[in-house]
Amino acid sequence: MTQETSLTHQQMLDLIQQLNDYSYAYHVKDSPIVPDAVYDRDYQLLQAVESQYPEWIQVDSPTQRVGEKPDSGFANVAHTVPMLSLDNAFDNASLADFDQRLRKLLNMSVEKDITYCCEPKLDGLAISLRYEKGRLIRGVTRGDGLSGEDITSNIKTLYSVPLTLRTTTPPAVLEVRGEIYMPKEGFEKLNGLAEAKGEKAFVNPRNAAAGSLRQLDPKITATRPLVMCAYSIGYVEGWEQPDSHYDGLMQLSEWGFRTNDLMARAQGAKGCINYYDMLNEQRAELSYDIDGIVYKVDDIALQQKLGFIARAPRWAIARKFPAQEEMTRILGVDFQVGRTGAITPVARLEPVFVGGVTVSNATLHNKDEIARLGVMVNDYVVVHRAGDVIPKVVQVVMEKRPDNAIEVAFPEACPVCGSDLEQVEGEAVIRCTGGLVCGAQLKESLKHFVSRKALDIDGLGDKLIEQLVDQELVKTPVDIFTLFLKKDRLLSMERMGQKSVDKLLASIEQAKSTQFNRFIYALGIREVGEATARALTGYFNDLDSVMAADQETLVEVDDVGPIVAQHVKRFFDQTINRDTVQGLLDAGVMWETKQAVSSDNLPLLGKTYVVTGSLSQLSRDQIKDKLQALGAKVSGSVSTKTDCLVAGEKAGSKLTKAQALDVPVIDEAGVIALLAEWGAI
Ligand code: NAD
Repeated sequence: MTQETSLTHQQMLDLIQQLNDYSYAYHVKDSPIVPDAVYDRDYQLLQAVESQYPEWIQVDSPTQRVGEKPDSGFANVAHTVPMLSLDNAFDNASLADFDQRLRKLLNMSVEKDITYCCEPKLDGLAISLRYEKGRLIRGVTRGDGLSGEDITSNIKTLYSVPLTLRTTTPPAVLEVRGEIYMPKEGFEKLNGLAEAKGEKAFVNPRNAAAGSLRQLDPKITATRPLVMCAYSIGYVEGWEQPDSHYDGLMQLSEWGFRTNDLMARAQGAKGCINYYDMLNEQRAELSYDIDGIVYKVDDIALQQKLGFIARAPRWAIARKFPAQEEMTRILGVDFQVGRTGAITPVARLEPVFVGGVTVSNATLHNKDEIARLGVMVNDYVVVHRAGDVIPKVVQVVMEKRPDNAIEVAFPEACPVCGSDLEQVEGEAVIRCTGGLVCGAQLKESLKHFVSRKALDIDGLGDKLIEQLVDQELVKTPVDIFTLFLKKDRLLSMERMGQKSVDKLLASIEQAKSTQFNRFIYALGIREVGEATARALTGYFNDLDSVMAADQETLVEVDDVGPIVAQHVKRFFDQTINRDTVQGLLDAGVMWETKQAVSSDNLPLLGKTYVVTGSLSQLSRDQIKDKLQALGAKVSGSVSTKTDCLVAGEKAGSKLTKAQALDVPVIDEAGVIALLAEWGAI
């Protein structure tokens, strides 16, 4: 690192203190104060100062040591071989530098590439397991790298840790190193339970794993969904290790350890970068958190030649993924009114780059969530954004709470229409009671009504709906179909010429011919999404039957539980909604009535399809609609339950997964032939 810095000696000492405080909270208390990205940036700054002024390096600098000394009720055990950390690379250039550095040290000729073993960097806790004559003797955490905590009793509760090796000829001594982590699903469940009991939730799966492992009572650890994955051999006696790291892991797998199935060999920096691109694309879909990739020189003899530096092996590097958690400040809280009247507090944030995008708003969900987080305006908070999931405030950085922090005042009345607010017992959400009288609810309902998956009215965008409502041209969805009577008013609106008005009226006319399921979805009944609308219309033959259905009949429908049934019933019990439905029918909205359900007209009933990649003749949604019309279920992800994957051009991880699971794959021509066979096109 050659970056110039302008820190004074005292500022550097303060930075060390700050980093050590963060590290203590993270490694010992399992309760980080700041997101990793903040720690990593400060750490890089310290590295830069130290490379500029090597004489300033302190013994307690985090660059000179690993983790923290344990501070718990467990016995302290020295490691036979130190458990080190890893050097980091935050971009492709640093990874290429690393490869270049090793090539130089190894005097490699230009034609040859270094073979690396690429492994997902599991975000959990490092562990060393000692086996003597094939039996598990001890499990120790990494601690400060030289010694860790003896957590054998807890380790034994994990099914993925073999208590004896699956071989009749085990090594005399074997120390296996690996990561213990908590898969995402288990983490969500655990936090859900904690919240239901009013207990403190864990900030992320890593802390949940660490906290669960370091319970003094193994019975508690036994209830936690933890998994151990082996990633190296730390020490061995009485057995000749294979020449390659990868083969060593294969042997561990045969002996009964779990190893990561995405692990692969790659050639040179280029191969490593390709692997990064591949894994980065899959990251959000993995069932566990990873924060990067570990690249290790595969040849054990070369590893030995390269050796170690202060706190890390020279032959390995961790290439970090872009941060999914960042720290920023809450500038204010706005209250938005949704389609169903739900009042959602939304934090206005100082813009921050996280999860690959700049985020300036994040939902705070509801009043209870504000209380749970203890968040105030002007607070520093941790914002999480992974994959396409909407950004979320997950934690307040209490240590940085400013003097001007102000409590969040929840409104007493609807911020849009001034109507009273109500909170249904047992629900966290507070709602405006204004219904369609509330401009916000009306606008959102209309946007939903005309959206692509509902009545799909082309040319009636969000902006136009807002103008139509503000100018009182539309007060209910029915008014959309009488807009042709108000052509003059439409023509007088901003950016509405003769051509666009004609086009809009034509698409409104066209939208009158719709489908039963789209119509039900368009009504915006609470918790009735696209799939539930389809389930309802698949079960009931006509609108009258849906409207007349009682609670008992509704719950018989697939996908409909008691709560959804109640929402459907309540919706059709209200005169205003019945009048709206009648008004729409009177205005000419209609659909083809379907024939009775049977395997004759639903030949794909019971089959699950997934559609991915880019298609040229039909859109993904059109294919989805047509498959569903033939009775198929269309799911968003590939699993063992998938019957067929429709893969267009540039199909990515879903195709890889389908191939791995032996799921039949068809291309665009294949699905078109299938649809044609059943008369769907
Ligand atoms: P590290 O996490 O960057 O790398 C070393 C660790 O990677 C190993 O100990 C092991 O547990 C893990 N690992 C996962 N998969 C592996 C694999 N396949 N092969 C080898 N190792 C694998 O280094 P570290 O020293 O444990 O900690 C530094 C990290 O911890 C930083 O990235 C930092 O962001 C975070 N941290 C955060 C805070 C905070 O306040 N948020 C404080 C301290 C440290």
